[in-house]
Amino acid sequence: MAENVVIIGSGPAGWAAAIYTARANLKPLVFEGAVTEENRVGGTLPLGQLNLTTEVENYPGFPHGNLEAYLDHSIDKAQRALMAPHQKAGVSGPELMELMRQQAKNFSTRVVTDDIVEVDFTKRPFKLIASEGGVTEAQAVIVATGARANYLGLPSEDAYKNRGVSACAVCDGALPRFRNQPLVVVGGGDSACEEANYLSKFAGRIYMVHRRDALRASKIMAERVLKDPKIELVWNSAVDEVLGNDKQGVTGVRVKNTDGGAGRELAATGMFLAIGHTPNTNFVEGKLELTPKKYVRWTVPFRTCTSVEGVFAAGDVADDYYRQAVTAAGSGCMAALDAERWLAAQGH
Ligand code: NAP
Repeated sequence: MAENVVIIGSGPAGWAAAIYTARANLKPLVFEGAVTEENRVGGTLPLGQLNLTTEVENYPGFPHGNLEAYLDHSIDKAQRALMAPHQKAGVSGPELMELMRQQAKNFSTRVVTDDIVEVDFTKRPFKLIASEGGVTEAQAVIVATGARANYLGLPSEDAYKNRGVSACAVCDGALPRFRNQPLVVVGGGDSACEEANYLSKFAGRIYMVHRRDALRASKIMAERVLKDPKIELVWNSAVDEVLGNDKQGVTGVRVKNTDGGAGRELAATGMFLAIGHTPNTNFVEGKLELTPKKYVRWTVPFRTCTSVEGVFAAGDVADDYYRQAVTAAGSGCMAALDAERWLAAQGH
């Protein structure tokens, strides 16, 4: 028997889609991703990018406070035992994701801890092939596999992830370790400008390290950065090593000059990467229409429809613009409603 709806991905978009389709009695099945070394290194483990962050202060409904008892009550005991201690300061990314997962499971969502590696969308029911080889048939599919932030790939960068190295200023920028401190932003596009501008509200000084002598960013964004007295452009430079120690995390960054000049060391308590994102769409390449940047293309304005009828997309896998947990969750809800209405129209 084919499933009514299969959701691929387990970030905010995937769980929101699961909660809504479950409450519509569609008995959703979620492929949350596999727990493998390859996924760990690639930043694509279950629970998405939010599971890689620390405090989440911008998701509505979770003001500063101690959620310990709530977490103890709401989350399945076996799963709760695996979680890091609660910091008593609002919700963390991993806690928020566990809460969403639990909420979906409470409405009888079934969860498979595996990746979908191949799809056949040429006829219905659709066929989804998991990495373990199993084939699942589905009348409707919601693709919510998200995107992963690009990193430079330095071992020292990996060592200080979440201890000063971040790829999300909006998520992490207001943390105490960054307040009134010098920070480094890497990149020269709109995201880097936006991050530098955002961080300059909290930081003491921002070094914006860019590998060329001109910004890629739009004029207005670039001008804002160039006019900000707190931001110093470090042109023609590439990060060579992230400096730090176990106790303090990041303490600085060593940059080399890309046109042969002398490098320098920049004292900083944080390094923010803004060198683009890569959507997790390998498994649908050639099966769904993608944008030139390989994001799934939404084919109808204000809907989550894709180029294949009955396949919907939600969250960062189809959004290279907003990229927030709350917008991903919102589009997950939209995809669930789109799938429900489409299935009803097909007589399911
Ligand atoms: P982007 O435009 O692709 O810029 C990426 C930047 O990172 C470029 O400056 C690039 O350098 C640099 N970079 C890439 N790989 C690097 C590496 N390995 N080492 C060092 N530097 C590296 O990406 P984005 O800024 O994330 O923007 C993505 C899209 O979203 C764009 O269309 C942008 O306009 C849009 N966006 C809009 C807004 C807004 O309007 N408010 C805000 C954010 C994003 P090069 O320049 O040398 O290639």
